[in-house]
Amino acid sequence: FLSGKRALVTGSTSGIGLAIARALHAEGAEVVLNGFGPEAEIAALCVELGAQHVGADLTTTVGVEELMAKAGPVDVLVNNAGMQHVSPVEDFPPEKWDMIIALNLSAAFHTARLAVPHMKAQGWGRIICTASAHSKAASPFKSAYVAAKHGIAGLTKTLALELAEHGITANAISPGYVWTPLVENQIPDTMAARNMTREQVMNDVLLAGQPTKKFVQPEEVAALAVFLCRNEAQNITGANYSIDGGWTAK
Ligand code: NAD
Repeated sequence: FLSGKRALVTGSTSGIGLAIARALHAEGAEVVLNGFGPEAEIAALCVELGAQHVGADLTTTVGVEELMAKAGPVDVLVNNAGMQHVSPVEDFPPEKWDMIIALNLSAAFHTARLAVPHMKAQGWGRIICTASAHSKAASPFKSAYVAAKHGIAGLTKTLALELAEHGITANAISPGYVWTPLVENQIPDTMAARNMTREQVMNDVLLAGQPTKKFVQPEEVAALAVFLCRNEAQNITGANYSIDGGWTAK
């Protein structure tokens, strides 16, 4: 149902973004990939998905502008690129704060401001932001991430209201812990910050808050993103959907 539509998924060389890109491609969309990784792996993904890849660094405004210029007009915009840093606030490196706010929040503002004119002109568009359970609740030692994710939830609601009469919806998806490199890579820092073993971090920190005691799979997030692109979802806008095994129900 997405044939003839072009979808840009930021941070789509890995994890959730890659699953979303694959799912949109399966529905017929022309996909533009973004993100970093080994050249050969990215080349293989481009072949698999018949996709274009733009490797722009979205921590800078110029990088986002380069991405949007190379991607061309997009009908589906998925703001997904994100990074994490785990540290007590007094030790939190200010440059990490700036990077996380830039990538996890400001990049979504810049992609949206550049994508919206085309969407408005054609009277159809879908903006989907990968937020997080941390857009609704906090955890210690993740000050920048939690602030950025609360921010992107607010940005998404604002976009929804501004664009409501233009056939453009804006929604957030808020996963709990999804088994991706982003989660795996934060285990060592969490071990240090909390003085725990790897097992303790997995069971007592990550899955402790997730009542189902299961990691969310990237494909589950992708399935919701696809649904939000459907015409049946035209009145779903400004929503922030949890896929967190019950985490934020508590
Ligand atoms: P991931 O680390 O597997 O993938 C991140 C992607 O972003 C990669 O493609 C990477 O190359 C790209 N990226 C990183 N820095 C970039 C930059 N400066 N410019 C452009 N691209 C960049 O992560 P993931 O777990 O798939 O996370 C994707 C999104 O989902 C993030 O916004 C994350 O905050 C959110 N999220 C993840 C989880 C989880 O448990 N994994 C939970 C909730 C929300």
